[in-house]
Amino acid sequence: MAWGMASEASCYVYYPEDESDLLEIFELAKIRGLSVGFRGAGQSYGDAALNGEQILVDLSGWNKILEWNPENGLITVQTGVTIAQLWRHVVSSGWWPPVVPGTMNPTLGGCAAMNIHGKNQWRVGSFGEHVIDFRALLPSGEIVCCNRSESPELFYGMLGSFGMLGCFVSITLQLKRISSGEVKVKALSAANLDDLLHTIESHRDEDYVVGWVDCTADGNSIGRGIVHTATHVDHSIDEILPDDSNMNRQDLPSKVLGILPNSCVWVLLRMFNYRIGYKTINAIRYYSGLLRNGHIFKQSLAQFNFLLDYVPNWKRALLPGGLIQYQCFVPFRSAPAVFRKVIESCNDSRVSPYLGVVKRHRPDNFLISCNLDGYSLAMDFSVNDRNRSRLSSLLGELDEIIVESGGRFYFAKDSTLRPESARSFLGPKTLASLMDLKLLCDPDGVLQSNLSRRILPELHGF
Ligand SMILES: Cc1cc2nc3c(=O)[nH]c(=O)nc-3n(C[C@H](O)[C@H](O)[C@H](O)COP(=O)(O)OP(=O)(O)OC[C@H]3O[C@@H](n4cnc5c(N)ncnc54)[C@H](O)[C@@H]3O)c2cc1C
Repeated sequence: MAWGMASEASCYVYYPEDESDLLEIFELAKIRGLSVGFRGAGQSYGDAALNGEQILVDLSGWNKILEWNPENGLITVQTGVTIAQLWRHVVSSGWWPPVVPGTMNPTLGGCAAMNIHGKNQWRVGSFGEHVIDFRALLPSGEIVCCNRSESPELFYGMLGSFGMLGCFVSITLQLKRISSGEVKVKALSAANLDDLLHTIESHRDEDYVVGWVDCTADGNSIGRGIVHTATHVDHSIDEILPDDSNMNRQDLPSKVLGILPNSCVWVLLRMFNYRIGYKTINAIRYYSGLLRNGHIFKQSLAQFNFLLDYVPNWKRALLPGGLIQYQCFVPFRSAPAVFRKVIESCNDSRVSPYLGVVKRHRPDNFLISCNLDGYSLAMDFSVNDRNRSRLSSLLGELDEIIVESGGRFYFAKDSTLRPESARSFLGPKTLASLMDLKLLCDPDGVLQSNLSRRILPELHGF
């Protein structure tokens, strides 16, 4: 099942123990005329880690930390190691993963394949910018070791190539030095979209910035929300102690308001899974944010970064239809007008997202990249029988708006992109380079997924 639970597929699932097992799976697939897809922790919202009626290789068992040097922060891991495993291993020595997503559950293989970004993308770039080198097994049976200087085409091509060129086996990553386990967070309310983007822009010297948007508000309040900025709390490097308690005191609270176990919260959230319900929750959140405007507080790095892990299984509140996320990336200058149009289109079609998040981005050198000098707006939609067809035509409409603005899309979150929009976003030059790399790494066209067949059928000769 996709993480968002809005799509599922039956697959032949294999759990290889090592590279020779995986090689056998590739050979079996070629003999049987089947394709092979990869799955890390299955944390992609849509169909990236599904391969319906075909082979799906679960790599979560490749979870050993191979080498760790607390002197220089270089770590080499098997690619089934998760972000949670990684930060827990290094934090007490004064290191932190430089780029993390909103959940700690993904594997580093999944992070590399999607070249993930965090709430600091405009400052430190995407995940791939911190990869020193990687080893990958290609369906041809070849093992490649890639870094920026020796095999730059493969390095910049494979990171972000959504599992279409080969399997990441191990990765060496440069971690970020930290001198405390905390960030100083500031909450700033914004009355509308212009205010929100301006607030983000004027806090670009902080380490992290993220904007929550109430996408249900309209009129003069369109795009209102709360911006959270955060900066690492720095002690002098000499003060770092390996067992510093503020490094280790990271984990998320297990109860809401100290009484209600987090694991029960999704049952309460279920009561709000309809349009008026989201409007109510968003308004409460906005007005309580207004009361705490300018509030400064400290949080552990895990609490700040992994907000979405606070309530385990919160997505179950959205059953039976599940959820999809639509994340669009828009150039800096056009973002205010384009995001306004996007939110207005949602309101007009009466399919409001229950959650909206804005982040600041910068471009990078990876072949397949959603990043640009601008912003992304991620919107989460509950899916049900009443809104399914309206949602589908709304998102088709939004694709056109984004493509027209020179915008981009992110395959890790995608569930609905059509091939013509994917082609317009990537452009003929990038597509031709991807095809060349595909021929080089996977000449028999073994690697596929539901996502790749949906958005780029030509990659598989369809
Ligand atoms: C609550 C939540 C919050 C999120 N927040 C963010 C965020 O802030 N920023 C962000 O960028 N993303 C975010 N994501 C998306 C997530 O980081 C990506 O989808 C990531 O790729 C998931 O990793 P995974 O290990 O679960 O990979 P999967 O979802 O299992 O697979 C993702 C892709 O990686 C490929 N793959 C997996 N392992 C390998 C391997 N070893 N070699 C080659 N290909 C491989 C698969 O084929 C597939 O195409 C979020 C997801 C959730 C659920």
